[in-house]
Amino acid sequence: MINSLRVRLTLWYVLLLAITLALFSAAIYFAVRSALYETLDDSLEDRANLAESLIRMDDGFVPNDEIAIPGDPLEGENFTRIYNGDGELIFDNSGDLGVPESESAIARALLPRCDGCSHNSNTRHEDIGQGMRVLTQRVDGELGGFEAVRVVEVGLSEGDLHDTLNILFWTIVIAYPLALIGATAGVIFLAGRALSPIDRMTQVARRITAEDLGQRIGGPQSNDEVGRLARTFDEMIARLDDAFQRQRQFTADASHELRTPLTAIKGQTEVALQRERDTAGYQEVLRTVNAEVDRMIRLVASLLALARADSGEIPLSRENVALNELVGDAAEQIGPIAAEKQVTVEVDAPQPVRLSADQDLILQLLLNLLDNAVKYSPPGGTVRASVSTRDGQAEVRIADEGPGIAQEHQDRIFDRFYRADSARTRADGGAGLGLSISRWIVERHGGTIAVESTPGHGAAFIVRLPLS
Ligand code: ADP
Repeated sequence: MINSLRVRLTLWYVLLLAITLALFSAAIYFAVRSALYETLDDSLEDRANLAESLIRMDDGFVPNDEIAIPGDPLEGENFTRIYNGDGELIFDNSGDLGVPESESAIARALLPRCDGCSHNSNTRHEDIGQGMRVLTQRVDGELGGFEAVRVVEVGLSEGDLHDTLNILFWTIVIAYPLALIGATAGVIFLAGRALSPIDRMTQVARRITAEDLGQRIGGPQSNDEVGRLARTFDEMIARLDDAFQRQRQFTADASHELRTPLTAIKGQTEVALQRERDTAGYQEVLRTVNAEVDRMIRLVASLLALARADSGEIPLSRENVALNELVGDAAEQIGPIAAEKQVTVEVDAPQPVRLSADQDLILQLLLNLLDNAVKYSPPGGTVRASVSTRDGQAEVRIADEGPGIAQEHQDRIFDRFYRADSARTRADGGAGLGLSISRWIVERHGGTIAVESTPGHGAAFIVRLPLS
């Protein structure tokens, strides 16, 4: 149970909510309580002041037997008592309330006055039982020309106040667990909803195998952390799926490519062995077999290069490379093949362009592109290779006058084993791996490769590499 994020989240939330609610309820209860007592004390003071004004006359205290404090309509809920300077009760309308006289408070109020003494400060609020709150107030005046003291004692019932507090207390006691239960149910529901994609992810991940990468979490996904995780998970599975499919396709294509020359060799040798032949006959067969073996060697070398590239095994040994000179070297190397096809290779690299790159790999890239350009050029055509710099990048452009590449093939010719026109190129021995190796080399150097072509008007391959 405790291993469930949902349960842990809920427990934490409920604990925090319980503490917060308890503090909040206590704060409300005590704030209301103190406000109610303050109001009650204000009323007590008003009553005491009223009583004081009623026991004074212009020139002194009202004689004891003339004291008249008007009766209260809410009889039984308040009272007034007046004491003389000797602490004797001279007026009392408390009736049968049975409130005991607060002797100590009266004694304190009667203590001789002194400056700064706390004992005869005017008011004291005391809860003296019987549900009454009492205020004892000293009144100084004169009687018959002499200084005299009276003590006014007023009381008010705390009944209403206690009723209000009781209602508040029971409201809190009942509402507290209800709020907690409601919030807990809400959190369990919401946490479950928010976390359900994670459960789905777990189930999907369990079902996924290399053979079945078609599983997705899917469904509408929110834009929160869990939603993003689910989307990222789906994207990752899609990439894996894609990678596995490419892998399978690659293996199938590679086997197919290897079978073609092997079938050719098998056919040639079988025919040759059917009857005895002269030397020239055997040489003819061997030449064909040799050509097929060459094709296989090239294919296996390309496959090996791609496999190494995939596993990241090929380290770049960067050095300072003069790209303009390298293009010249590549054009020279391709010269004999071009001459055989009556294709002219022109190099336009007037400025020195230097970059930090792996010289062997860049040469291989240039040879691949030039080889293609010559291969697809018509006899008498011209291949133009130029080097320039643009926007802080070196740019190599290799253009031919061949058939060009249709728009729908332009994006795909860099894919492994992809040929725009298999019938045409197979005769020339291409397996459709040259451009994927070229693209890998360019990207490994942080550059880009693109093709521009209008079918019928030649093709131009543009390689951009960062300058050193
Ligand atoms: P291949 O070994 O078949 O040439 P590449 O990967 O080098 O393989 O090229 C892939 C495909 O791109 C070729 O089969 C061809 O259809 C097309 N292609 C490449 N270069 C050119 C070019 N210069 N002119 C026309 N088509 C080209």
